[in-house]
Amino acid sequence: MTAKIIDGKTFAARIRGAVACHVSRMKAEHGVTPGLAVVLVGDDPASEVYVRAKHRQTVEAGMNSFEHRLPEEIAAADLLALVDRLNADDAVDGILVQLPLPGHIAEAEVLAAIDPAKDVDGFHIENVGLLATGQKAMVPCTPLGCLMMLQAEHGDLSGLEAVVIGRSNIVGKPMAQLLLAANATVTIAHSQTRHLKAVVSRADIVVAAVGRPEMIKGDWIKPGASVIDVGINRIDAPERGPGKTRLTGDVDFAAASTVAGAITPVPGGVGPMTIACLLANTLTAACRRRGLAEPT
Ligand code: NDP
Repeated sequence: MTAKIIDGKTFAARIRGAVACHVSRMKAEHGVTPGLAVVLVGDDPASEVYVRAKHRQTVEAGMNSFEHRLPEEIAAADLLALVDRLNADDAVDGILVQLPLPGHIAEAEVLAAIDPAKDVDGFHIENVGLLATGQKAMVPCTPLGCLMMLQAEHGDLSGLEAVVIGRSNIVGKPMAQLLLAANATVTIAHSQTRHLKAVVSRADIVVAAVGRPEMIKGDWIKPGASVIDVGINRIDAPERGPGKTRLTGDVDFAAASTVAGAITPVPGGVGPMTIACLLANTLTAACRRRGLAEPT
């Protein structure tokens, strides 16, 4: 069997197009332009790339993008003061503080300071609680993108066996909550899970969010399963020349794609969906704050 490759780039472009349409209608009918504020502390090169991509795609969708770049050594109090200003700024519908933050700043304190209504990353404890109790929440972007791809693949997920590998607050746990809310039968695996191969091999849906290159092997996958690979790992690629590297996922793509029914590639799978969902969340936040109809 050769798996269908789930094209995250095309899917994400479609979401961005729908967001742009809704934004242009909002402008025309209500004179409102949604705004996303992104805060970057320090100069981590990977974060820099993400922030640039977020800015470009926000502007392309017709929304305002406000970038705040702060020095690595900024005091936590100054960062919190900026978050307060953004909370109070009516032009700002979404606030995203790019993680990781430098070690001297407590991430939890900063995330807790963001107005939950503007928390487009969905990391505020209030949104975590709303999601966990099946209420209307701001949903973390990466798992939301994964869910959309799975629903496009399967339609109804009711009763399917889903295994999420990884239990981080930003991917694994919210992914499991979303799958549970969609009526899948959910198992969360982690570094202490025994017999991981056996656990994975009973899954109709596998979501890998571990951060270990190609750890999930092809012969772990149930024939016909859908495999969503969240991992982004940079590894050496001597075949491309001396000192070259390439990106790879948490799944052994070459082997898994001969067994799975559908699979996301890395890059070009979950990654593009994450930013598209950020834009969708910003639009949703803008609609909710203003009491306007939300995009469907
Ligand atoms: P974390 O490091 O926070 O979490 C990794 C999880 O994997 C932990 O729960 C850990 O278990 C588990 N784990 C580690 N080793 C094993 C093992 N041998 N067997 C089973 N489980 C294991 O990572 P994130 O959730 O933040 O990210 C995961 C991956 O997804 C990374 O590669 C990251 O780069 C990528 N990512 C991609 C995004 C995208 O947009 N595509 C967005 C966010 C992340 P334990 O809890 O027991 O330690």
